[in-house]
This record gives sequence, C-alpha cells and structure tokens, in this order.
Amino acid sequence: MAPDVKSYWQNYIDGAFVDGGAGRLTVDDPATGEPLAEQALADAADVNRAVAAAKRCHESGALTVMRPVERGRMVRAIGQYLLDRIDTIAPIHTLESGKPLWESRIEIEGAARYFEYYGNQAETLEGRSIPLGGGYLDFTLLEPYGVSAQIIPWNYPLEMTARSLSAGLATGNCCVVKTPELDPLANGFIAEAVEAVGFPAGAANILCGLGPDAGAALASHPDIDQMVFTGSVATGISIATAAAQNVVPCVLELGGKSAAVVYPDCDVDNLIENVRWGIYFNAGQVCSAMSRVVVHRSIHDEVVDGIVEMAKDITVGPGIDQPEFGATMGAMISEKQRDRAAGMVQEAERDGATLATGGHKLNRPGFFLEPTVFTNVAPDMTIAREEVFGPVLSVLTFDTDEEAIQVANGTDYGLVGGVFTRDLDRATTTAQRLRAGQVFVNEWYAGGVETPFGGYGKSGYGREKGREALLNYVQTKNVAIRTN
Ligand code: ADP
Repeated sequence: MAPDVKSYWQNYIDGAFVDGGAGRLTVDDPATGEPLAEQALADAADVNRAVAAAKRCHESGALTVMRPVERGRMVRAIGQYLLDRIDTIAPIHTLESGKPLWESRIEIEGAARYFEYYGNQAETLEGRSIPLGGGYLDFTLLEPYGVSAQIIPWNYPLEMTARSLSAGLATGNCCVVKTPELDPLANGFIAEAVEAVGFPAGAANILCGLGPDAGAALASHPDIDQMVFTGSVATGISIATAAAQNVVPCVLELGGKSAAVVYPDCDVDNLIENVRWGIYFNAGQVCSAMSRVVVHRSIHDEVVDGIVEMAKDITVGPGIDQPEFGATMGAMISEKQRDRAAGMVQEAERDGATLATGGHKLNRPGFFLEPTVFTNVAPDMTIAREEVFGPVLSVLTFDTDEEAIQVANGTDYGLVGGVFTRDLDRATTTAQRLRAGQVFVNEWYAGGVETPFGGYGKSGYGREKGREALLNYVQTKNVAIRTN
C-alpha cells in the first residue's frame, strides 16, 4: 500500500523551514505520472538569503572555533538520523524517483555512510611544518573556504547531497545545497537532521529551485567561495563558466560512457551479474554506469546470450512494489528522460545496431523502458559515444588487446572503466591504459565511499569520495615566523 506523503515540503534557509519566492513545484510519481506532492520553489532572492545566512554563520566562527571532533560528531549524527528513519524515507524517495524500494534503502544507507565517513575524518585533517633553517618556524593551516555551493542531480539526490554536505560541514564550511527539481522531497529529511543534530542557523541551507533560475543564481553568486556540481556536461560548462567569473574553485562530476573490457578468460557468470548491476541499477541512470561492454570476439556469442537472458529476467514495474533486493527495475525519472532514451534506441537501430532485447516503452502509465541490449555496435555510432542515462547497453567487439583499449578509450568521457579477466598481467596493464578516473577489475562498482571518484576528459575534474575529496573543501595557508 502506498504510504502517506506529506502534501507540501518547504525549503530550509537560515535555520527555518520556509516557503519559496517562486511558489510551488509539483513533484510527480514517475511510476504513474500522477502528482505526488508539492515542493517550495526558491527564487534568486531565496538564494541570496541562503548565501547570506551561510556567510554570516561562517564569519561568526560557529563552525571553525569548534573542535573538529565536535563537528565530526554532528556530521555523523545526521547519518544516524537518516538510518533511524529509513522505513519512512525509503518509500517517499521511491515514489518521487521511481527506483525500487530496495534501491532507495541502499541510497539512504549510502547517504548515511558519507556522513559517517567524513564525520570521522573531521579531526584527521592536519597541516604540516616546513623546515626553513635557523631563525624560522613555518607551518601550514588547512582552512575551510567559507560558503560551499552544492548543486545536486536527480539520480541520487540523497547520496549526492550527503557526499558534498558531509565533507563540506566536516571541514567547517557553511553550505547552500540546491536540490533537483524532479525529486527534491527526501532531501527534506536531511534538512530536518541538520537542525536536529544541532548545527547553527546558516550552517546548512537546503533549497529546491529551477536550475536556470535558483541554480544559476547560486552558481554565479559573488559570495560563494567554492562549488560542487554533479550533472550533465552542458550544465557543468555553465557552472564552470560562472565559477571562473568569480574566481571560485569548483568540482565537476559529469557524465560517462564507461566500458567494461571483457577478455576471453573471464568468469562469464560473474561478468553477467556485474552487467546487471552495471547498467540496470537505477534503470541505468548512473553516471558511472557500464554502458558499453567491449568483448573479445571469441566469447561474444556466449556473453551476449547470457546478458540477454539476464536482461529478460528483470522484473520491471513500480518501485514501491519492489521491497526485496533482486533482479527488478523501476521507472525512469521522467517522461522526458524515458523518451530521450527511447529515441536513442530508435536512432541506434537506424544506424545499423542490432536490438538483441528490449528497447520498448512499457504499455502502462509511468515512464518505463525495457532493459535493452544492442549488439553489432560500431565505435562511431551515437549509441557507442553518447550517454543514454537509461537501461541501454551497447556491446562492441575486439580482436586484439590494443583494439580493446582503443575502443574503450574512444569517447570524450573518462569516468570509470572495467576489466574482466583472470590474468593479473592483463588486468593491470589494461587498468593502467584505460583513460578513466576509476577502474574496476572483476567487479563493477568495487570500492566505496573511501575510494576517490571522478573523471578524466569530459567527465569532469576534481575528485569526490575518499580522502582526496576533503582537500576540495579546504585551502592551504602558510604561516612563516621569524623566531630570532
Ligand atoms: P539533467 O539535465 O539530467 O537534469 P542537469 O545537469 O541539468 O541534469 O541538472 C543537474 C542539477 O543542475 C539540477 O539540480 C539542476 O536544477 C541544476 N541546473 C540545471 N541548469 C542549471 C544552471 N544553468 N545553473 C545551475 N544549475 C543548473
């Protein structure tokens, strides 16, 4: 039975839940296409208020005079707050995003894990002393930038907010988070948590607004000191342009067209299981999705048969009916995204790729697309080069190891890559040659919050996750003292 969803969700600015200057936005359930709830919609004036509150909080020293361990405990407590309410949050997030209930639970656990990890790291950031010879004492300080602006995409709104907010707060920055207009609701629980764990007003402001309106106002605001963006390449370019105008550093995590290179000696059953996760998790709406399989010709047919059978076995339907972890897939986020993916499927057929399975919209309300596999994909086809951001896999073939690398590296992107083989030499050589920020060997998505993540090429710059990400939120100050 569908849970009760509060009919109206406010923004959180300067320690208060408030209405939006731009009115209200209707959030739809992608599994039905029906309205689910309303969200307050921020305008540029709301963004100004949020940035001013964050700046005030930063300048008050509220977060920076605090011993880091205290900040860290509060950050961790946000994660615990979410875990304590997982049974409430998961169905709401499923209804706004379309993802299976079990995936919403994984997302909430992932969000909590970011707050735990970066909460724990708060007291571990240290400067160093630099020897300058007699008569000097020199040391570095790692100081927060001040106001961190964080623009969040709709595919993992809870995890992405958690990823940036946890690192931002742990390092003593005050944050303004712009949540995505398609599924902003569950972020309301993070706002509640920020307040409940005792962060002062202005430390974290969480608001929803339209990208070109509130998003652009935030990205170009003269009082922000640092910015983190996850989303499309086109929007990333306008964010980076705005950042450049204000000389503000930014981290960009953009798209991908990531490939798994499959050698003839791989464990095929393991590969198939990883393809399921790689391309059908969150209906393929994942920047690091395995959207291409580049397989050696000698095992092509065996691998394709296995993938097609696996894809046909996936149950597709409303996420709210999918509580149990397993081979299920929900709706895509919106009609526009689903139709864009379906359009790319048609284009691939016109280009001569073979539709091995799927490719159709489901004949029911809601924004569903079948798990889809293309074979006979040539590296220069659009389907092999451009991100679908949907449940669509392209299978390409290779004969020599050199060709495998050329095909895998043959797009403008470079987010992640994978290698499937039992041969350690081949695995390491391929891992070194893949043009990607993260390489998985024999398990797609191996790693976690601890391991740095980010792109080469058009996939962006800067790193999220791991120790690396913390350094995006601090700037180095050197203090040199003449001692005699
Ligand atoms: P998608 O097209 O898949 O929605 P976007 O990159 O456009 O991906 O969206 C990611 C986030 O960026 C969302 O929060 C969105 O509101 C925001 N956004 C979109 N356009 C702009 C913009 N011009 N300036 C700032 N943020 C924007």
